[in-house]
Amino acid sequence: MNIAEVLGLPQLLQVKKIVCVEPHPDDNEVGAAGTLRELALRGCEIVYITVTDGRAGGSSRVPQTADIVQIRKKERAEAGRIVGVSKQIALDFPDMGDYTEQDLLAKLIPIIREERPDMLLTVDPWMPYEAHPDHIKTGKAVAAAMLFSANTFLYPDANPYTVPQIAFYATAHPNTYIDVTPHWQRKIEAILAHESQFGDAQWPMLQMYLEYHASQLYATWKQATPGAEGYAEAFKVLTGQQLHFFPAALHS
Ligand SMILES: [Zn+2]
Repeated sequence: MNIAEVLGLPQLLQVKKIVCVEPHPDDNEVGAAGTLRELALRGCEIVYITVTDGRAGGSSRVPQTADIVQIRKKERAEAGRIVGVSKQIALDFPDMGDYTEQDLLAKLIPIIREERPDMLLTVDPWMPYEAHPDHIKTGKAVAAAMLFSANTFLYPDANPYTVPQIAFYATAHPNTYIDVTPHWQRKIEAILAHESQFGDAQWPMLQMYLEYHASQLYATWKQATPGAEGYAEAFKVLTGQQLHFFPAALHS
């Protein structure tokens, strides 16, 4: 049974407004830039929320004395412009800081109530072997925000809102594939806008990995068509109902 279909909810590429919550500046591009570009071209309003300031993401390309937080802010703005993002919100928690999932949840709920998206997008915190605390806290807080953005007992507000659907990128259990072949070069361009993070000696290897992974996803998706070639991004899309006491969500 497809719950989204039963509820009459739009498919990923049909949504009119999406709020994309990334742990660090650059995660939305690596995880979903091709899909977001397609959505932008279809007239979808795209709002970014960046949870941390990215201060732990210095690299050999950036001098120790540089203001990495300011550099990453500029890079994020440019990457968003390349993708076609309408609005960017920075929560400025310290990268790898000791903020809690609850702290983040309390920040997210008023923004979600204000923006009222058809769908949330974020990292999958349940990806096996995901070890980065910012990714785990972000994914879980966004999922919890789905459950509590309509709850005025816990978070009093005159403007409660229920987000109908959530999509996770970097997921090990995808149920939705998007053909991003036409947007692949733009995705790479958006990733490379994060100059302080990419484009160094390791970049060719990383680009090769991203292309291999996206072509594998495409082949998995199109397995009934031998020899089909292209690039795909993959997501786990769930309704709010599937985020609590719902073991079948794993296989949905
Ligand atoms: Zn990250």
